[in-house]
Amino acid sequence: MRIGFGYDNHRLIANRPLMVGGIEIPSLLGEDAHSDGDVLIHAIIDALLGAMAMGDIGSHFPPSDERYRNIDSKILLAETMNETRADIINLDATVILEKIKLRKHIEDIRKNLAKLLNLDISRISVKAKTHEGVDATGRNEAVEAYAVVLLENE
Ligand code: MG
Repeated sequence: MRIGFGYDNHRLIANRPLMVGGIEIPSLLGEDAHSDGDVLIHAIIDALLGAMAMGDIGSHFPPSDERYRNIDSKILLAETMNETRADIINLDATVILEKIKLRKHIEDIRKNLAKLLNLDISRISVKAKTHEGVDATGRNEAVEAYAVVLLENE
């Protein structure tokens, strides 16, 4: 068994979609990013790579590479799962958004992650928090995600 931890954040700006776990959340602000900016999928990718001591998302999918401009992060996740070649036992994640309410989208996000990770939904936890008005995330200027995965080597 191996445990992995991942973190990501993105600045929130106008005229961008807000992608969280492969779901587009209705919002006037979205992630500023080279890819589609899906903060939760990026944290999960770093957790998977971290569990296997295989570096991080930036080393696998460099933002300087034009192939990854506006790329759907689901594609990056699928490539990561191919590279890590391990069975995921469970995922626990937290997304931090100050003003945009995630709660009513949590079940859709969990269902989507279950499909993407090929896992039963009972093994996927996604929690939503605010930043209590503190710092840039608390001013609704950024979104953050934390993810922990447990893997079993094939
Ligand atoms: Mg990112």
